Amino acid sequence: MNDLTPPAPAAGCSATPVLKERGQHEVFCGLTGIIWLHRKMQDAFFLVIGSRTCAHLLQSAAGVMIFAEPRFGTAILEESDLAGLADAHEELDREVSKLLSRRSDIRQLFLVGSCPSEVIKLDLARAAERLTQKHAPHVRVLNYSGSGIETTFTQGEDACLAAMVPVLPETDRRQLMLVGALPDVVEDQMLDLVRGMGIEDVCVLPAPRAEAEMGVGENTVYALTQPFLGDTHAALTRRGARHLPAPFPFGEEGTTAWLQAIAREFDVPQERFEAVTAAPRARARKAVARAAQPLDGKSVFFFPDSQLELPLARFLTRECGMQAVEVGAPFIHSTLMRDELALLPDGQVISEGQHVDKQLDRCRAASPDLTVCGLGLANPLEAEGLTTKWAIELVFTPVHFYEQAGDLASLFARPVRRKDLLQLEAAE
Ligand code: SF4
Repeated sequence: MNDLTPPAPAAGCSATPVLKERGQHEVFCGLTGIIWLHRKMQDAFFLVIGSRTCAHLLQSAAGVMIFAEPRFGTAILEESDLAGLADAHEELDREVSKLLSRRSDIRQLFLVGSCPSEVIKLDLARAAERLTQKHAPHVRVLNYSGSGIETTFTQGEDACLAAMVPVLPETDRRQLMLVGALPDVVEDQMLDLVRGMGIEDVCVLPAPRAEAEMGVGENTVYALTQPFLGDTHAALTRRGARHLPAPFPFGEEGTTAWLQAIAREFDVPQERFEAVTAAPRARARKAVARAAQPLDGKSVFFFPDSQLELPLARFLTRECGMQAVEVGAPFIHSTLMRDELALLPDGQVISEGQHVDKQLDRCRAASPDLTVCGLGLANPLEAEGLTTKWAIELVFTPVHFYEQAGDLASLFARPVRRKDLLQLEAAE
């Protein structure tokens, strides 16, 4: 679609019944988000109030980063805390004071809840309030939960950003807020595209530094770059900001539709939109066509994991020639997913939540060419002869917007091509 008139309502999967499943599920916890959030927010510190298991998860997931000047750590809850024998609040205050006296560069401190802190019902909201009073104005203390109880790993970012929204200053500026943590190079491309359309008053949540001039109010409109930001969406709406609904900026089509929603809101002339997007769109189409060759005509099965499943299924089916067998998502946010569901071709199972055994049975029966799943399922499925892609890689790799569209297709194409080559060799 080339013009900026609102798209005609499409049906796609909008009316497809969703298979709702509740049972054992296989996901990472929200602490994982700290790995990419601490790189974006350069004066923030993430203090996980958790067990040694949480500390190990952070250290192994963050890998080499812990040897750099760290912007995250763990206040370990000992057995005496868990048994209610010690005053965890007093200990926490002591730990925070020690940390802040050592690190004057910290301007935002996030107290991050975990499974153990939730189990003992440690009130981190109260702790954050108390510690803000103690350490203001130099440091603002906020809290959110990264617990793995009934959540999925991308919810950590959502909870973190949602915690920041209530403390943003009020503004009546007419502005565009772009919401979601993206790698710097991708964020720069996004800002170039938006500013190229003549929209100057633009801010990004999360900002690199606490003092960044950013407010929110009734004249703020916002576009989400990540599909898992449901709580942040609700928090921004409560502050009076207005959401610009759109498909998410994955692939050429999603990026164009996402930019069109912004262009319509800001009355960007059609010619200007074309001038800004024509060249990168052409590059994206070409790169996807080249990278997606091994995917053409192949089938894909998504286990619920990252909450990127529906937008990625839309990209793979509409731009890469794949057929989806099942698209499983941990949660389906009806407002945020409306445009994705309208574009997704009908014909696959759409499931929400997980009953992992039943879903594994469906996957084995379908024997898809590619299965997108969490780390815990990938190895056993590979051992059974299925080709897999780790969903978490899609969150750690730059995949948004035009210049990454070819890389996004390549991420899926690589395991399929490897399987094709192995089969060829075996046949010779
Ligand atoms: S928050 Fe829960 S799931 Fe995550 S590492 Fe800690 S104990 Fe494990």
